[in-house]
Amino acid sequence: MTLRLHYNENTAGCSPAVIEALAGLSASDIATYMEDTGTAADIARWFGVADESVLPVNGLDEGILIAAQLAAFESRARFDAIVVEPAFEMYASAVTTVGGEARRVSPANDFAVDVARVLASVTNRTRLVFLCDPNNPTGLGLDRADIESIADALPAALIFVDEAYADFSGRSIIGPQLAARPNVVVGRTFAKAHGLAALRIGALVAAPATIARFRRLVLPYRINIAAAVALRAALADRAHFSRTLADAAASRSLLAEACARLGLRTWPSKANFCLVRIGPRAAEFAAWMEGRGVRVRDRSSLPGCEGCVRITAGPVPHTRMAIALMEEWHANESR
Ligand SMILES: *Cc1c(COP(=O)(O)O)cnc(C)c1O
Repeated sequence: MTLRLHYNENTAGCSPAVIEALAGLSASDIATYMEDTGTAADIARWFGVADESVLPVNGLDEGILIAAQLAAFESRARFDAIVVEPAFEMYASAVTTVGGEARRVSPANDFAVDVARVLASVTNRTRLVFLCDPNNPTGLGLDRADIESIADALPAALIFVDEAYADFSGRSIIGPQLAARPNVVVGRTFAKAHGLAALRIGALVAAPATIARFRRLVLPYRINIAAAVALRAALADRAHFSRTLADAAASRSLLAEACARLGLRTWPSKANFCLVRIGPRAAEFAAWMEGRGVRVRDRSSLPGCEGCVRITAGPVPHTRMAIALMEEWHANESR
């Protein structure tokens, strides 16, 4: 079986309590259109916000798409969206899908987000800015002050802060201050740390009036009953969640040590993956790894990521398998 270290999934799997909850669904549960799955309330409790501050989404990808749809709907004309590179590909693809233009901001040295450079890319049609903390694919955190400067400078744009990996960094801008920032919306997912990727469940979190703007656009029944009961069980299993975070932290350290030993550049990740600069043969390396049963993600075509692959940092035994292969590749290369 192939070890999937290319999509930042929880390769330990979801909580066993999730499997139990799914098995407990009845024939009539599944045959019923649920008006309210209780998911918004579960998520609100998890984040310590009001129910009205939460819109559950069918995976954070859907959240990204409806942010683009909202920008298109509210601008009623051509709009553009700022994408700070290197970035998750869904941002640009969601924007172009709804007829918008993605304006890509190239990365500064060592991937620092340069606020002046972001603001210099803004036009009078900019309705949306995508930021990601910690960023995929670099794993680097974003300063809250930078997010706030961008939000303050662009009151008419929606600032989408993708926190897909914030469970791992332990840092979030979700809190009472969001109420005072109607142009900021936070995207979260339960696919990664909670291991629910295949069930498709995430959330948008923002001031209630902002969430109300999103709510007008979405279809009923987007959150299925399996995702709803699975999420409730996953959120209740704090031990599984803590173990996932501890595994990621241990694996990040192991990967950083291995890179230091092998003379490979990496960056201080706060997520459940590390970006590693393999060199000009990165694509070949990824294919070689796959041939040996471990998939890693070739990211060398992204701006600033020349020669880089992204490796999931999950359970330590999985990380050790990747590191053993990296060492073997390195030994072959330097012979
Ligand atoms: C995985 C990921 C998502 C999407 O999560 P889903 O809930 O599975 O749709 C969004 N943003 C980033 C940065 C991701 O890495």
